[in-house]
Amino acid sequence: MKILVLNSGSSSLKFQLFDMTCHKVLYSGLIEQVRDHQQAIITMVKQLSAQGHIHQLADLDAIGHRVVHGGEYFKQPTLVNQQTIEAIEQLIPLAPLHNPANLLGIKMAQQYAPDVPQVAVFDTSFHTSLPDYAYIYGLPYELYNKHHIRRYGFHGTSHYYVSRQAARHLRAHYNLEQPRLISLHLGNGASAAAIDNGQSIDTSMGMTPLEGLLMGSRSGDIDPAILFYLARETGAGIQELDDLLNKQSGLKGICGQNDMRTIIEQAKQGNTLSSLAIHIFCYRIKKYIGAYSAALNGLDGIIFTGGIGENSAFIREQVCSAMDGLGIEFDTEKNQNSYDKLLELHSSASKVKIMAIRTNEELEIATQTYMAIRAPQ
Ligand code: ADP
Repeated sequence: MKILVLNSGSSSLKFQLFDMTCHKVLYSGLIEQVRDHQQAIITMVKQLSAQGHIHQLADLDAIGHRVVHGGEYFKQPTLVNQQTIEAIEQLIPLAPLHNPANLLGIKMAQQYAPDVPQVAVFDTSFHTSLPDYAYIYGLPYELYNKHHIRRYGFHGTSHYYVSRQAARHLRAHYNLEQPRLISLHLGNGASAAAIDNGQSIDTSMGMTPLEGLLMGSRSGDIDPAILFYLARETGAGIQELDDLLNKQSGLKGICGQNDMRTIIEQAKQGNTLSSLAIHIFCYRIKKYIGAYSAALNGLDGIIFTGGIGENSAFIREQVCSAMDGLGIEFDTEKNQNSYDKLLELHSSASKVKIMAIRTNEELEIATQTYMAIRAPQ
């Protein structure tokens, strides 16, 4: 059972081939600086063929596609047909950079392998369980009806994958059956999710991935009136402000760097703006942990994932220090251990369990694709 997972972006094509009988990765590749998606697919097939895995896309059992925005329509992985394509097209205004590139990947794969079942897996689906009071903004209600303005949330595949791993661990080792979890996906983009008994009940990214935590180059939460002020004072236009908040802000805006490894190095060498950037990054996360503990009416576990969450013992410690008032007691020694899939980070006295878990969005997409093609439609 060979399933190919495609992540077709505007300028790159990421792919992984899985053997789903043993959940093993057979091959993974990245084609960068893609100008022509058709050419990228041809290059990918050449690479897979050179390794002897498949000779053409038609040799696959299924293809799973990462799609960024599924709006309110796609609550679960969905088999691709004409209706699915049209619905993803209708969602382009909500994700103008991502959905068109995702669609190109789907259409190319369909062209080369019309008989291979394809499944679209959405970054937003996991958060479609949010209650209305968590997803409606304090704006005129008709903006929701007319313009679909609401919180959607992203990183859903990752939050789902790590929260399931965490729940399995807590059930097996602590008899916790319905854990209340906060999942922290900390990469270049970063988001938090509050998960109650397997369901996402709130998340920090909003209508777009700009809201919430401080990120590599995105501001996260700010007072929206800053934009009006800047427009009035500097004459900045919409594109400029969009660029400012999405590309020139966050860690990069504060200390000039968006790579956390470099920022930590610089902070250790005495760079005060790098230290400030780290402080803001961790403090914002602490605030979300507090808010989501209240939303969940208590907390059983915190999950660190994404490039920073999985790898930076330093950031994990900064986030969890001085949180014992909330029953979060961190073990700085365990935090230094290397690990394969899951590392416990709490002290034996801690009420809240803390874990670093390696996310695997590609495997999750492959698994969901496999389940979707087996399920009766
Ligand atoms: P993306 O969101 O683009 O998928 P990743 O999840 O790979 O990004 O995360 C990238 C971030 O993880 C970068 O800021 C990088 O510096 C950081 N990172 C990776 N390893 C470490 C580490 N050992 N210590 C601190 N930061 C790290």
